[in-house]
Amino acid sequence: VPQRETHAFQAEINQLLSLVINSLYSHKEIFLRELVSNASDALDKLRFRAITEPELLADEPALELRLIPDEAKGTLTIEDTGIGMSHDELVKNLGTIAHSGSREFLETLAQKGQKDVQLIGQFGVGFYSAYLVADRVEVVSRAAGQEQSAWRWTSEAKGSFTVEPAERATRGTSITLHLKEDQKEFLGEWRLRSLITQYSDYVGHPIKLQVSKSTGTGDDAKTETSLEVVNKASALWQRAKSDITDEQYQEFYKHLTHDWEAPLAWTHFKADGNTQFTGLLFVPKQPPFDLDSQQQRGVRLFVKRVFIMDRCEELVPQWLRFVRGVIDSDDLPLNVSRELLQDSQVVRSIRKHLVKKSVDLLEKLAKDKPEDYLTFWKAFGTVLKEGLATEAEHKDKLGGLLRYESSREEGLTSLADYVGRMKEGQEAIYYVYGESRKAVADSPHLETLKQRGFEVLYMTDPVDEWAAQGLREFQGKPLVSALQADLKLQSTDEEKKAQEQHAEGLKTLTEKMKDVLQESVREVRVSDRLTDSPVCLVVPEGGSPAYLERLLQQRGR
Ligand code: ADP
Ligand code: MG
Repeated sequence: VPQRETHAFQAEINQLLSLVINSLYSHKEIFLRELVSNASDALDKLRFRAITEPELLADEPALELRLIPDEAKGTLTIEDTGIGMSHDELVKNLGTIAHSGSREFLETLAQKGQKDVQLIGQFGVGFYSAYLVADRVEVVSRAAGQEQSAWRWTSEAKGSFTVEPAERATRGTSITLHLKEDQKEFLGEWRLRSLITQYSDYVGHPIKLQVSKSTGTGDDAKTETSLEVVNKASALWQRAKSDITDEQYQEFYKHLTHDWEAPLAWTHFKADGNTQFTGLLFVPKQPPFDLDSQQQRGVRLFVKRVFIMDRCEELVPQWLRFVRGVIDSDDLPLNVSRELLQDSQVVRSIRKHLVKKSVDLLEKLAKDKPEDYLTFWKAFGTVLKEGLATEAEHKDKLGGLLRYESSREEGLTSLADYVGRMKEGQEAIYYVYGESRKAVADSPHLETLKQRGFEVLYMTDPVDEWAAQGLREFQGKPLVSALQADLKLQSTDEEKKAQEQHAEGLKTLTEKMKDVLQESVREVRVSDRLTDSPVCLVVPEGGSPAYLERLLQQRGR
């Protein structure tokens, strides 16, 4: 007979629990959002597995969540008919932090203190928010397909938890919170209703609240309970835009991404052409604290409302990897595999649409909310620029989204604004690439451009020069690097003549210099580009651009 086992929490969990219990005072209600979010994920996972294993649904056909307050016992139970957890899963999922960023999380939480309890979901430790309101938590779970075994996980958050065999008639998980004395408000029907509406209305499964009604008086007094659906219970993206509030979009985004901040912008659309699908895409405000693992979340794929996979790389090009959201396709088969996705015409068509919608969304953001756009640009501009080198189709639009510092010294400018300011006789958009702003601003290469009053864009991001070469031109104006040997600046005939005479006069000097420098330079020539500095290095026609040189140097070539 299996016995009750006691397990110690991982050190990080203990630290986390002590923070949750002792220093987080505000927004305690977020525990409900986190537990409902987990239950919703568990239901999604079950529905996905049931596509190939329909027998998993046999013991309990309903896919739903139930909230059961019990005044007498002072408990609130959050139950779901989802995938459930086996013994080992209980121990692993509710006893260790799988997430690599847990240490950072603890540091952030400790620094920011009570205000940022909202962070908890982002770091993959949402479950422990139960201890904001409960001093004891009991989880009874039965994994789908495991007829015979249910397990109870219990902990008072004092360093350890226990696991023992339990009874549970059907698959799924019940989480019972023994509410702290001062947290009994979470038993109230209206409190629970309004929290669900506020935080969890996006959930595509029914959330049923157990409500009690008293009837009769005296000896006939009875309390009847019934379950009432308290959310819309349809996938948010399937609803009409006019029925969805900004707050609902934002809560859905938070559920999807674990981001605690609202997104900067979103777009919700239906494609009815050859491929039919619904999309809901978000642009986050800030890069996730661990870009790499969060990157994995990307866009979620649904097929006919059924959750298929979390990170569907096939739908999103690399340079849009910051985009979050869902795509729900009507055309893909439910049992779609990675291999199938890779050469699916449907996927290619969705991806194309998604790219266009994302670029349009950014254009709109840049136009309507320039401040927000700059926030986006600072967070993800580097990523977006990669698109210039790889995406021929949207080059013009992407060019319009670029922002650079310039010799105008007034913050970031768009290329369109730059072109609008171009001087008479200026044929090109000039830029200079270098390691830092300071290095480029003082570069002797700019002297003649500055003297003519030509603005120069400062590029200091390692991808910049590569991206600029991908773009080539904007609104018919070529992008020209100020480091190029021949800037092809127009001069009058007199100027040219004077220049030639000048060069003739210095011939002995330039020849001598070439003699000394030998193979280090291709050519030494007299230039009209310098006004204050005596000499500068330039890239000859056909020479490799500076960024490549730097790259090769770094690789020790
Ligand atoms: P996250 O949801 O970010 O993974 P949580 O701390 O909220 O982090 O949950 C930890 C893990 O516990 C989940 O990833 C999931 O595997 C498991 N879990 C939590 N609640 C449930 C549930 N109701 N049903 C099944 N598994 C659950
Ligand atoms: Mg969670």
